[in-house]
Amino acid sequence: MADKKTYIIGNSNRTACLEQLCRAESDKLEVIREDYAAENIPTIKNAYDTKIIFLLDGIPDYQANLSTIREQRKDIFVIGFDTTQNVSAPQQYIRGLQLLKRASANLVFSHDQETGTNMIIAPEETTYHVTNDEQEALRNVVEMAYLRSHLTFTRSTVVAGQPVDWNSPLVPQSLRTVVDYCRAQGAYKVFNGATTGHFAVKLDNQTFLTSRRKTDFNQLDQIGLVKVTTDGPDAVIAYGSKPSVGGQSQRIVFQQHPEYDSIVHFHCPKKEGSAVPTVSQREYECGSHECGKNTSRGLYQFGNLSAVYLENHGPNIVFNRTINPQEVIKFIDQNFDLSKKTGGYVL
Ligand SMILES: [Zn+2]
Repeated sequence: MADKKTYIIGNSNRTACLEQLCRAESDKLEVIREDYAAENIPTIKNAYDTKIIFLLDGIPDYQANLSTIREQRKDIFVIGFDTTQNVSAPQQYIRGLQLLKRASANLVFSHDQETGTNMIIAPEETTYHVTNDEQEALRNVVEMAYLRSHLTFTRSTVVAGQPVDWNSPLVPQSLRTVVDYCRAQGAYKVFNGATTGHFAVKLDNQTFLTSRRKTDFNQLDQIGLVKVTTDGPDAVIAYGSKPSVGGQSQRIVFQQHPEYDSIVHFHCPKKEGSAVPTVSQREYECGSHECGKNTSRGLYQFGNLSAVYLENHGPNIVFNRTINPQEVIKFIDQNFDLSKKTGGYVL
C-alpha cells in the first residue's frame, strides 16, 4: 500500500524546521511541503492518502481554510497555527482554543510575537509545552501529532430519535444525583456555548445512555441524554444526536469492568494529597479507543467505585448504579476541586 502523507502547507520561517522534525519523527509518512494556493487545500484534503496536515497561518481566509479540511475528513489529523500580539497567556489560550473548536482541528500551535510565549492547545481544553523555547514547542507539537494521529475512533451514525429525558426512570438515581451535584459545584464550565466532559450509563451490553456532544450540561433538564446502540467496536448508532466524544472510552471501560455500569468525567484538577492514580493523556486524544484502554488500565478501586486521573485533563469515575450516590460525592469532594478547571486557565 502506498505511503500515507504529511503535508506542511504555507510558508513561514517554521516550514523547514517542521519538515525536518516530521521526517525525524517517522519514516512511515511521506512529508510534503506545499506553498499555499487556493486550489491546493481541496486537492490535498480530498486525497485518500492524506494523513496529517500542518496548515501554517499567514494565508488568506485562514480559519475558513482550516475548517474545511475536517468537515468531511475526520480521519485527517489537522494542526492549526495562531499568532498573537502581546496578549496574556490565558488570552492566547482562549484565542487558540476558539480557532481549534471552530475548525475541529486536532491541535493548535500558538505563538505570541511580543511575549515570545508558545503553547500547544489540545481539544480536551488544555495546554501542553507552554514555553518561550519555540524549538521545543515545535518538536513537541510534531511528536504529539504523530502520536495522536495513530488513534482509532468509532464514528457514530445518527438516526432519527428523541433525547432521553434526564429525569427518565431509565437514568439511575445514583448517576443523576452525582452528576447534578457536579453540575451544581461548577464542574461543567461553558466554552463557546458547550461544556466538555461526559457521563453515561450502560443499560445492557448493546445499549447505553450518554451525554450529548456540544451541548451545555448545565441545561441537562432540557437537553437530556442520547441513546446509543452498538454491535461491535466499530459501529455505533445514536438516536437523535451525536454522543459525547468520550462515548467509545466509556464502552471500553464497561466492557473491561463488567461490575460497573455508570461513568462520570469532568475536566477538574486533583486535590493535593489525592491517592487517585494519574495516567498520561498527552499521546491520546479524548474519545479514542486508546484513550479508553488507557483509562481502563489505570482505574484503581476506592470503596465501591474506581477512578483514574488523566493528566492535564480530568478524572474518570466509575461505579455501579446500586451504589449510594453519597459515597461517590464524598469521594469526588475529597479528591477533586470542582471549582477549578484543568489546563491552567479557568475560562
Ligand atoms: Zn475529557
